[in-house]
Amino acid sequence: MESLDAGGPDAPVDAPPEPAARPARLWRPRRVLVTPAALAHAHGRAMLARLEGLGLPVEHLSSNRLTGLRHPDPRRAYAEAKATLALVVAPPTKLRLQPIPPSADWRFDLAEGCPAHCQYCYLAGSLQGPPVTRAYANLGAILANLAAYAGQGAVTSAQAARMSEGTTFEASCYTDPLGIEHLTGSLSAAIRHFGAWEAPVQLRFTTKFSAVEPLLDLPHNRRTRIRFSVNAAPAARYEGGTAPLRERLAAMGRAARAGYPVGLTIAPILPVAGWRQAYGSLVADAARTLDGVPDLDLTAELITHRFTPGSKTVLEGWYPGSDLPMREEERSRKLTKFGSVKYVFPRDLMAEMREALTDRLARDLPAARVLYWT
Ligand code: SF4
Repeated sequence: MESLDAGGPDAPVDAPPEPAARPARLWRPRRVLVTPAALAHAHGRAMLARLEGLGLPVEHLSSNRLTGLRHPDPRRAYAEAKATLALVVAPPTKLRLQPIPPSADWRFDLAEGCPAHCQYCYLAGSLQGPPVTRAYANLGAILANLAAYAGQGAVTSAQAARMSEGTTFEASCYTDPLGIEHLTGSLSAAIRHFGAWEAPVQLRFTTKFSAVEPLLDLPHNRRTRIRFSVNAAPAARYEGGTAPLRERLAAMGRAARAGYPVGLTIAPILPVAGWRQAYGSLVADAARTLDGVPDLDLTAELITHRFTPGSKTVLEGWYPGSDLPMREEERSRKLTKFGSVKYVFPRDLMAEMREALTDRLARDLPAARVLYWT
């Protein structure tokens, strides 16, 4: 087990994140596919206008199916799909919302897929086929559909400790909505929708990106919680194509100062070398970023790394050179409630990491309400 080394909890930490806005790297897809059905929707046409305005190469498809994306070389298929954005209509199944414990009462999707290249991407086990990013054009129907779920739910709506959040709707299960916001505008529309929705409801999403500027002046009415997915510095090498950690933390500060409820999604927690100090530094940096924010509403979600046989196979295909630790013999094997297998860290290590992280949050960032550890 990790012991407190020379760089223990009181050791100096890195310099605090820059509070000033910095130009974020914004994704420019190499290929944009537009289905005819997408253009039947005002939001589809608005996205197309954005994409054309950015000078991106747009291909108009003759049918609504995305074909020709497979390639005999899986690495090539992956690379081409990750560079492709498609405007499509969400299938009707997307309008039947699913619960998403422990995060939120319900999940809904503005898009599916993400342009980043995280070697532990949680989408690996859930996306079907090549990982093209699909942005949904029928945004009006997706947002109008949410009202039927207000007041229902078994997570925040049912837990006394979280009831103040209202009925919660999670928008980042299948995408990173901020990472594609400059191309879609969907997230801003959702934030406006919740801001105008006079009911105890909350939009929530998590992101590994930092381009929050278009969101800061929206009439959010504190009904959107922006959580920033962050990790210990040694895990940064697993997060290709995302905004640097320092920029994510600075973006959290800007969002909090714009009145948004914010959150830290510390994930996936890994026993990287020197993990106590590394996670301690992360918490200290977050605390400095948020120092002095008026009416700060801050949560923390603590998610350890896990994998399934299926997600491991997909990730090994996508990132064959990765040194991400995914050896079954170093993990505990668990059955999910659906009967599938997942591999988590052994119980003693889990307990040790949990205590270290929650203690550090309580000490250095007491404003953070820890929602769960998993
Ligand atoms: Fe996957 Fe999130 Fe990384 Fe995108 S940012 S590749 S969704 S883990």
